[in-house]
Amino acid sequence: MALEELNNQVYACRKCRLWQGAKHGVPGEGPINAKIMVVGQNPGMEEDETGRPFVGKAGKFLIKTLSDQGLKREEIYITNIVKHISPKNRAPYNDEITECLPYLIDQIEIVKPKKILLLGIAARQTPRIEGIKYFELIHPSAALRFPKLGKKFEEQLRKAIDS
Ligand code: URA
Repeated sequence: MALEELNNQVYACRKCRLWQGAKHGVPGEGPINAKIMVVGQNPGMEEDETGRPFVGKAGKFLIKTLSDQGLKREEIYITNIVKHISPKNRAPYNDEITECLPYLIDQIEIVKPKKILLLGIAARQTPRIEGIKYFELIHPSAALRFPKLGKKFEEQLRKAIDS
């Protein structure tokens, strides 16, 4: 399957309740041959407005931290474990994650990244596929809120990029 077809499936998705409160499905973006994939929780307000992942505050922090490590946004495939915003920005429920997971699995199979960075607790439910290295990191929105976690996030990111 092509990424474009998968994106269209996400835009039209009605498999769980979340589409009802969303302006846009946010499939993810990045080059098809990206070596690194980033998986977050689900889109926030800016992402829902624009249809693009990690373009709000947490996203800017993520992109700045990546660029400190010499990586450009355009080199990375960026997505979320759940592709629609949730009401009042609550964490996605397990049934919502389960319904949405096939999209992420297809994205991993299409992009075939060497490394996947899992941001926050929800993203840890990403299935592990042989041959790919997985790294569990703090979510950048938590890292933004607490300076100590910010340092830890930078450290975790550096380790993941270097290994
Ligand atoms: N937080 C996420 O987990 N994903 C986004 O796309 C934006 C904020």
